[in-house]
Amino acid sequence: MKLIMLGAPGAGKGTQAKYIAATYKIPHISTGDIFRANIKNDTELGKKAKEFMDLGLLVPDNLVVDLVADRLQQEDCKDGFVLDGFPRTIPQAESLDSALLDMGTKMDYAIEIAVPDSDIVSRMSGRRACVGCGATYHIVNVPSKVENQCDTCNSGLILRDDDKKETVLKRLEIYHEQTRPLIEYYNNQGILISVDGTLTVKDITDEIIKVLGV
Ligand code: AMP
Repeated sequence: MKLIMLGAPGAGKGTQAKYIAATYKIPHISTGDIFRANIKNDTELGKKAKEFMDLGLLVPDNLVVDLVADRLQQEDCKDGFVLDGFPRTIPQAESLDSALLDMGTKMDYAIEIAVPDSDIVSRMSGRRACVGCGATYHIVNVPSKVENQCDTCNSGLILRDDDKKETVLKRLEIYHEQTRPLIEYYNNQGILISVDGTLTVKDITDEIIKVLGV
């Protein structure tokens, strides 16, 4: 199963991608996580990406496309994958289509998690990320078992710089300009699934799995 998660920042793509990846036993590939790991390890890619991420801007397509194309060639992707945060622009989607065509395959579904903008800002302010492993939580919707402590690695939880209000507003603006056109792009390909992202986390997962089939 080859899937793409679509939706505004904070719509819950990452949370759903994790459940779907576990259900279908396929890797969860988050370009945001890849960049954050590079920032943490102080790599050249991390340094370049951080300049854009801290401003709420997209990292340029040329820094993302090859990275994902290489990742999809790895052995663990042979039965499928869930892409989370990629593609984010039409040129990225076109590059993905052509990389998959070269591999003799194509995407199965693009899943849109639809959440009104008005909900996004309040949601993002409740989001917390682990300083150790990058896992994300939400103080109300997906709380950690112990307050401010990661369930997986026990490190502390913080509000990420790019989840701060000003940055969120910028990210939403960019989402509408550059990423939202992908909804029509995948609708035209006949592979768009749209789910109501205001439901509970579990109801959204159930809805997606119902449509995909087990
Ligand atoms: P995310 O964790 O998916 O919300 O990504 C965090 C930030 O990483 C985004 O706001 C962008 O600055 C950058 N980023 C992640 N994926 C991409 C992508 N496919 N294209 C461009 N920038 C990206």
